[in-house]
Amino acid sequence: MRFQRSDLIPDLSAAELREFRQNQIVREDVPDDVLTLSFGAYLVISEGSAILVDSGVGDTKHRSRAEWHMRADGALPRELARLGYTVSTVDTVYLTHLHADHVGWNTIWNGERWQPTFPHASYLTAGQELTWAAQEYSRNPSFNYGSYADSVEPLLMANVLTPVDFGHDLSDRVSAQLLPGHTPGSSVIVVRGDNATAVLSGDLIHHPVQCGRPDLSSRFCCDARESTVARTDLLSRVANCGAILMPAHFIWGQIVAQGAQFEFLPLAMSEEK
Ligand SMILES: [Zn+2]
Repeated sequence: MRFQRSDLIPDLSAAELREFRQNQIVREDVPDDVLTLSFGAYLVISEGSAILVDSGVGDTKHRSRAEWHMRADGALPRELARLGYTVSTVDTVYLTHLHADHVGWNTIWNGERWQPTFPHASYLTAGQELTWAAQEYSRNPSFNYGSYADSVEPLLMANVLTPVDFGHDLSDRVSAQLLPGHTPGSSVIVVRGDNATAVLSGDLIHHPVQCGRPDLSSRFCCDARESTVARTDLLSRVANCGAILMPAHFIWGQIVAQGAQFEFLPLAMSEEK
């Protein structure tokens, strides 16, 4: 999906973006005033558990953004089926934060009301995140494209959404760690594999250009200064150690640090080096 540069990262200049792209091995063939983002979710299989991390934009949701409005492509259940899973075999849905493009498949419309899409799953998110979103919703019912009303509150009504504390373990190898800034309760998921650690970073970074300029926050960050601190912390943690960065909105990669400078290497490219 395409965003105007100024609508996503207002402080990023056209010249900076052009220079960044000239140095990239994987090229984005779009104009200098456009940034492209992908949308989706991650499925983590760990010790017999199927953990869905975030739930994408969702189907049949009324949204003021045209690309998100009343989607009907069944993408998430279809992708689960391709991997041998169904909505019934997902054990846990962990929400890195509660923005509309991360909670959409939480619920489906059954003709009368919104019901949990994953009937046997525990839904989890950071306690700080849920508190913040509930407060925003109480002030403005159409908060966050109306997604709290149709994709979060129904989970609370069904008693399947549980707020968790900092450093929550989802399995022996999978943990959620709080890194607030993009939203007040944003968290990342750390997966400790046999050969490498992966960090599912949610929306701490929206575009690889922010790896070289972690001070650039997105328009959707609630606190630009705290977001910069969280982004820099994340990049420091994953740099130079073989960890795989798995962002919500662009391709996987690794981070190389030289002093205080970070460089993003797309995974296929970093494996070749
Ligand atoms: Zn997002």
